[in-house]
Amino acid sequence: MIFSDEIIMATIEEVLQKVTEYNPKADLDMIRLAYDFAESAHHGQKRLNGEDYIQHCLGTALHLTRINMDEATIIAGLLHDVVDEAGVSMEEVEKQFGKEIAELVRGVGKLGKIKYRGIERYVENLRKMFVAIAHDIRIIIIKFADRLHNLETLDVLEPAKQLRIANEVLELYAPIADRLGIGDMKGELEDIAFKYVEPDIYTTVVEMVEPKLKEKELYLDTIRNVVEQHLSETGVIPIQIESRVKHLYSIYRKMIKNGDSLTLDGIYDLVAMRIIVQTVADCYATLGILHQYWKPLKGKIKDYIAQPKPNNYRSLHTTVFCEDGEIVEFQIRTKEMDDESKFGVAAHWNYAESGKQSQKIVKKLDWLEEILKLNHTPGVDYQEYLHSLKLDIFQNRIFVFTPKGDVINLPEGSTPVDFAYYVHSDVGRRCSGARINDILSSLDTPLNSGDVVDIIIEKNRKRPSPDWLEFAKTHNAKARIKAQLREEH
Ligand code: MN
Repeated sequence: MIFSDEIIMATIEEVLQKVTEYNPKADLDMIRLAYDFAESAHHGQKRLNGEDYIQHCLGTALHLTRINMDEATIIAGLLHDVVDEAGVSMEEVEKQFGKEIAELVRGVGKLGKIKYRGIERYVENLRKMFVAIAHDIRIIIIKFADRLHNLETLDVLEPAKQLRIANEVLELYAPIADRLGIGDMKGELEDIAFKYVEPDIYTTVVEMVEPKLKEKELYLDTIRNVVEQHLSETGVIPIQIESRVKHLYSIYRKMIKNGDSLTLDGIYDLVAMRIIVQTVADCYATLGILHQYWKPLKGKIKDYIAQPKPNNYRSLHTTVFCEDGEIVEFQIRTKEMDDESKFGVAAHWNYAESGKQSQKIVKKLDWLEEILKLNHTPGVDYQEYLHSLKLDIFQNRIFVFTPKGDVINLPEGSTPVDFAYYVHSDVGRRCSGARINDILSSLDTPLNSGDVVDIIIEKNRKRPSPDWLEFAKTHNAKARIKAQLREEH
């Protein structure tokens, strides 16, 4: 096993220090005890990358400190694999650490047993996740941290496994993290998964974005002082002005939403300037000042304070023609809004009553209640279930099936051609028609969630029709059609 010198060994001291920073009253002895317990349980066990297993436990706990999780969650993060991976009994965990932590470890273990495969399993997985959230929201948060650390060490797995795990993250974990408002973690999960699911597109996007980023960050450095000066004229004293880089997968999604080709044209928020101020009134005053000096672009002023996003994201956004005509997006918010956008449901955690806190948060998630209610309604079929999920969580995506029942996740408006190219580029090249739910349909028919799609193949067909470019929706299909058309000439 080759160790790259990039591998940094995590330590329990690091975890303890991070916890103290945001929760000075935390019981550090208890956390250390959990570490010792996990250390001896996993002793001698190695991860596939050659590291001691405890590194995974520490990595998971460290991710949890980054969203300021309470002591019980950190402890359960350290212990999350001792039952399933090291053969410790659940009773032992409960005896040592109490019922609350045992429940968290048990919950994470249950989620660990689900695998992404086929639509029935998919819905079943989702159901389990929602049940886990309803039980104690900290379970799913530990699972996110666990998965994030697994993604970071995904390189050593065989490609098929990498793809399964990465797909599961994009289609299951990230949308839920998003719905819970845990913005940073969602972005990180997506970016690493993106690299494995679409390696070529990932590289293309990185190569396009990198040079622009540097340019833009340098420019924003020069703007910061100007912004501060303008603000001081009205007496607004910002807490912080920082530039924030958009996550790669979000950039990619925006690109394909904007049109056919992968281009950064029209994407103005690669790097945005984020201004954190004291009060809501300061937010609006700041917006006013910016507009006084720099002309806003039409349709780019968003007031997510008056109208928060469904996941409760709040902020003011505006895109302006800044100094020298450079286009810049500004995001203006209070510290509270900023914390909420990073930690989501985990923001403002009341450490004094952590267990109850989790229940309180769950009660506020009405969408979760709706979904769980539906889950208990007899006679609700998968299609309806997915439909309701789509409305709430998976906006602008549809789920369709192969005749064998494998689920394929496509953007809304996708056609059998997109489906065929998703399956394989040779299926795409040779497709001549489709049976959608057993009905013979043309290749430009928009698919709906729940459709079973059977592609009809013309064996001797060598190349796709250029017409397909007019209705294919996914970047994947369009890129492959163009490439195959080029091959022929
Ligand atoms: Mn794990």
